[in-house]
Amino acid sequence: MNHLFADSFDARFDSEAACIEWLFQIRWPNGFECPSCAHSHATVISTRRLPLYECRRCLRQTSLTAGTILEKSRTPLRKWLYAMWLMSQPEQGINAVRLQSLLSVTYKTAFYMLRKLRLAMGSLEAQPALSGSVQAGLDYLGRGILSVQEAAEGRKTPIMTAVAMDTTGCLNQVALAVVPPAFVRDRCLLPVGKIHFAERYIDPNATSAVIADSLLRTNRQFVNLRIYGHSFRDWMLQTFHGLGGGYLQTYLDEFVFQVNASLQGVPPFEKLSYLSMRPAHPYVRSPRSVRPSLAA
Ligand SMILES: [Zn+2]
Repeated sequence: MNHLFADSFDARFDSEAACIEWLFQIRWPNGFECPSCAHSHATVISTRRLPLYECRRCLRQTSLTAGTILEKSRTPLRKWLYAMWLMSQPEQGINAVRLQSLLSVTYKTAFYMLRKLRLAMGSLEAQPALSGSVQAGLDYLGRGILSVQEAAEGRKTPIMTAVAMDTTGCLNQVALAVVPPAFVRDRCLLPVGKIHFAERYIDPNATSAVIADSLLRTNRQFVNLRIYGHSFRDWMLQTFHGLGGGYLQTYLDEFVFQVNASLQGVPPFEKLSYLSMRPAHPYVRSPRSVRPSLAA
């Protein structure tokens, strides 16, 4: 791991045991709890790569990573945590080619790790519905985000940008979401698209929620919303050199994770460690199905 941040990471996590201890504390802050019977005493079986905790009441064996995005991964926890460490640096993103080299893993493994961590960043727990005063509007991503062919065809991807403010008018959360093409007609968000977006991203108890259904209205009503679309494009260009493709939503999720951690004053590495120990998102493809041409 020959990286600028490697020294501070090494100081904190100098061994696999230190990583196990860190993740154990996050998963069971009050001590082990059996997922079957909630009993708090376990016998530790240390014959495997990761310890198994055998409940002393019901004898169920639980691994540290059972049910999480890290489950069944053969990659050492230290490499996982280092990937999280790198993804938690707000000023720069990390792509799979760079991660492959920094972690000495295959491209497929690096891609898979980033994909899983981004799914954790896009979970409902990571991005709860927006509350308070919500402003949302249609925006478009084009040059720099799509493939050369898509850009040459003049295609643009509609996205929804949204911000939430608390009672003092202070911005505290943002959301960015790819809009399915069926929800847009003549560059306007259809009512079904509004409902779809609101159901996922806006708390029904929000004090107010205004959704601008065209780029023109977004610009007129909420000039500030477009800042996030533009910042995202710059971040994509710097980190991934474009090519969002079919994974665009997962990149939006990573970007939003960083922005929200910063707005809320939450340390991103701690938050990402926590999310990695939560119940996993079920829809993750295996590394075998990854195509290296999706160079991120
Ligand atoms: Zn038990």
